[in-house]
Amino acid sequence: MNRIDTQTQLCAVIGNPVSHSLSPAIHNAAFSATGLNYAYLAFAVQDLAGCMAGMRALEGFRGLSVTIPHKIKVMEYLDDIDALAQKVGCVNTVINNGGRLSGAITDGLGTLRAFEQASVSLNDKAILFVGTGGAARAVAFAMTDSCRPRELRILGRTPSRMQTLVDDLAASTDIPIHGGSLEEDLRQAVAASDVIIQATPIGMHGHAEGKSPVPAELLRAEHIIFDMVYRPMKTQFIKNAQAVGCVSILGLEMLLNQAVLQFELWTGQSAPEAVMRKALIEALQENP
Ligand code: NAP
Repeated sequence: MNRIDTQTQLCAVIGNPVSHSLSPAIHNAAFSATGLNYAYLAFAVQDLAGCMAGMRALEGFRGLSVTIPHKIKVMEYLDDIDALAQKVGCVNTVINNGGRLSGAITDGLGTLRAFEQASVSLNDKAILFVGTGGAARAVAFAMTDSCRPRELRILGRTPSRMQTLVDDLAASTDIPIHGGSLEEDLRQAVAASDVIIQATPIGMHGHAEGKSPVPAELLRAEHIIFDMVYRPMKTQFIKNAQAVGCVSILGLEMLLNQAVLQFELWTGQSAPEAVMRKALIEALQENP
């Protein structure tokens, strides 16, 4: 670990709870490997207003990762918010420039980076989202902002939430956006899609672990699969996809790449991605 002195810049994750966060392991490994005089901590925060006033007042407090439940509310305390985060309606990153607080969102762009690393172009692809929560929203807006998919299809369990996401996306892009029911439309939607993005907690430790929201028999080798769940590292959905030969991207790649983009926003330097990936995988193996 780097020496901590009067010049050390502080970054931290805020949320409630934060005890499960892998971000300190990833970012401290990156700061250590680059020799940058930064340190990263985790703070459980209930008083968000007090937290943000404190950050503004503390000159060495450079950056925040923001997680549940503060990703929307934190926007009220910022001086500026980048265009993508405004569209998504939440922020996962804060940068403190001498008391001026800027907000950004890196989950979606980090996910696009993971697709690039897997040599998958999303242009002209039919993309299926299974799940309509905050993570699906962040990735869908980044896709319609930065790529040219042929269409997006959003399947949800709760019709009103699905429709809100479909309507918000459709209002911000000319790419065709379709909605549907997870229960009724899954089979036909999987058949019509090139890329399937799993954005529910199904398959996660403690949440239907060992289950997949997409039945294995619907998968073809040509499908490209991304599962946002990273505990376990290989979900049942990923195992099923690999068994039929699909290109598959693990949830840890989203977590890693959103952190890579945060590191670059805070430090202005390229992130040591290999070091960060190793730290993340070790942390997941220690704490599966
Ligand atoms: P969220 O806002 O709570 O949304 C969860 C979505 O999953 C909602 O559409 C919800 O439907 C649906 N859902 C939950 N349980 C379901 C079930 N049993 N059957 C069908 N649908 C179900 O959560 P989120 O923030 O979007 O996160 C979604 C997943 O992505 C979580 O597993 C999270 O851990 C993971 N994630 C990963 C990363 C990463 O870096 N890899 C980042 C963020 C999130 P309703 O609206 O009907 O409740």
